[in-house]
Amino acid sequence: MSTLVIKDLHVSIEDKEILKGVNLTINTGEIHAIMGPNGTGKSTLASAIMGHPKYEITSGTVTLDGEDVLEMEVDERAKAGLFLAMQYPSEIAGVTNADFLRTAINARREEGDEISLMKFIRELDNKMDFLEMDQEMAQRYLNEGFSGGEKKRNEILQMMMLKPKFAILDEIDSGLDIDALKVVSNGVNDMRGEGFGCLIITHYQRLLNYITPDHVHVMMQGRVVKSGGAELAQQLEAQGYEWIKDELGIED
Ligand code: ADP
Ligand code: MG
Ligand code: MG
Repeated sequence: MSTLVIKDLHVSIEDKEILKGVNLTINTGEIHAIMGPNGTGKSTLASAIMGHPKYEITSGTVTLDGEDVLEMEVDERAKAGLFLAMQYPSEIAGVTNADFLRTAINARREEGDEISLMKFIRELDNKMDFLEMDQEMAQRYLNEGFSGGEKKRNEILQMMMLKPKFAILDEIDSGLDIDALKVVSNGVNDMRGEGFGCLIITHYQRLLNYITPDHVHVMMQGRVVKSGGAELAQQLEAQGYEWIKDELGIED
């Protein structure tokens, strides 16, 4: 089992404190969801864990099996087994999707242990079928002219090919129609198991109808203020966030 531990994490953007002491522990084998109103720091948490330069960690720790993640370069974080699907995937001109994936897979392997082209193609075909993606997507330039739904599917494809220990999926559900939502959920559910932990960040409960989380956390004003099981997501859907503020005495 692997464990990702976030301890009293404080993060600032341009000297404004956004995260004010986040605590969260995720084991492989578990799916966690973070929900919360807009602007409460959910994406900031994801970006800080992955090492986005704009986010300054002012205190606290993030460790993966005891190793200091915050000391690692971004590519070292990926090599250590972290995967981030971003809210706004970027376009990389001139690199095909397949090339990008194979390079990313091999970058995570030791020299001499690279995936063979045959094996790579077989696995890519397989996963693209599973995600109901057109084979032609493999030869398209990364994210160039992809629709919103195609980008999301493609991120799940990346996750399935890279097989990270921990995936952080930030608003992977935003802008998806119901069919795409199901496909994306199938991808996460397929990964589910002993060697995989997942942090799903979402504003809406909808996605959690298809991926049942083991733990649900509510983030408000830069902190995790409440945790529970899958039923907490349903309660939020039915009742919104106000009752939590009342319960915990949080002022706007
Ligand atoms: P959430 O994902 O929960 O909606 P974010 O983490 O995106 O929240 O944002 C938290 C706060 O940080 C917001 O007040 C937002 O305006 C601010 N913020 C986020 N990213 C930036 C940035 N790149 N530059 C300046 N402020 C930012
Ligand atoms: Mg603190
Ligand atoms: Mg966000």
